[in-house]
Amino acid sequence: MEYKAITLKRGKEESLKRFHPWIFSGAIASAAADVEEGDLVSVYGSNGEFIGNGHYQIGSIAVRMLTFDDRPVDEAFFEQRLNEAYAMRGALNLLRPDNNAFRLVHGEGDFLPGLVIDIYDHTAVVQAHSPGMHFMRDTIARALTRLPGQLVKNVYYKSETTLPYKAHLDSVNDYIIGRMDTDLANENGLRFHVDWLKGQKTGFFIDQRENRSLLEHYAPNRKVLNMFCYTGGFSVYALRGQAALVHSVDSSAKAVKLTNDNVALNFPEENRHTAYAEDAFKYLDNIQPGDYDLIILDPPAFAKHKSALRNALQGYRRLNAQALEKIASGGILFTFSCSQAVSKEQFRLSVFSAAAQTRRRVRILHQLTQPADHPINIYHPEGEYLKGLVLYVE
Ligand code: SAH
Repeated sequence: MEYKAITLKRGKEESLKRFHPWIFSGAIASAAADVEEGDLVSVYGSNGEFIGNGHYQIGSIAVRMLTFDDRPVDEAFFEQRLNEAYAMRGALNLLRPDNNAFRLVHGEGDFLPGLVIDIYDHTAVVQAHSPGMHFMRDTIARALTRLPGQLVKNVYYKSETTLPYKAHLDSVNDYIIGRMDTDLANENGLRFHVDWLKGQKTGFFIDQRENRSLLEHYAPNRKVLNMFCYTGGFSVYALRGQAALVHSVDSSAKAVKLTNDNVALNFPEENRHTAYAEDAFKYLDNIQPGDYDLIILDPPAFAKHKSALRNALQGYRRLNAQALEKIASGGILFTFSCSQAVSKEQFRLSVFSAAAQTRRRVRILHQLTQPADHPINIYHPEGEYLKGLVLYVE
């Protein structure tokens, strides 16, 4: 198949020679007259040398590179990339009966820009972030069913909110292959309802798996407050870790119900847990100093774009200051930011400002990040998004 040609301006091939997978629209000298949203394109340098193939998109990121050679982007291509992704998750020891929830494809991190795939037992939840991946969804779904061990039996396509809205793709969330009427997945021996049909993202925040394990380790006998609990992941780990009590807070009533359901699923007779549907900032305002000695702050991304950065940093500072003010002496704070637009240094600086404002003695015990099934392509440092600090507060 002949791919439509894209030729770059002089000097703009440099980042591609270092395998950066994005081409910005300003780097393009000329494009085939009939190139359309989502097309497969072949990219050429200013001297006419072939660089690789990618998906074309109308917008600031104009091409997402899929290959740096001339192999076609077809079903065999996806099969190979998916097999490589799968082999890596095997090497991470994530494919176990007691752990069947993991990220199989993390976009650029798995050399498949524009594609995210999470696995929940035998169901793959596929998210396209580019029109090109959207158009290839059936090919991707078929390739998924050929992974070893019949891992994937059902493929649910969930891209309603992730595709560029200007592309007018009218995507609907639906099964492409099979269907599944239960919604259970295992993570480190704990069980969770995962609402991939209606939940946020693919239904569960798999990226906090290792951080939840670390929390479990600190939980014994502590009074735990899990802010922005969503599915209650941190709460369930804290309960298994012998916390004295666990309070979960989320402004969404649905999230509170999910949390209660997940606690009941793992600990049917539990009386150490209560969940509250409340605004996090208000809740922190109303508690007494010393009520809790282990607090988790895992808010939604405060900055979805660079333009919102200033307000986001203020938000992190304010939230962390509230928690640092109220946490008991000897308390431990797990604090996170999942905003890609906020750097590790910026986040740390906002927590530092919060600490200084409360004048408490604070030490950093751990610096956390995303787990290995959300890998960072070394040529695409933008792929690092999750940051966390564990603080010891006197
Ligand atoms: N910690 C969770 C993920 C958090 S997602 C996990 O481990 O899975 C962010 C959550 O914050 C969402 O459930 C959302 O409903 C909630 N949220 C957003 N704004 C909030 C606010 N102002 N107060 C409380 N919860 C809020």
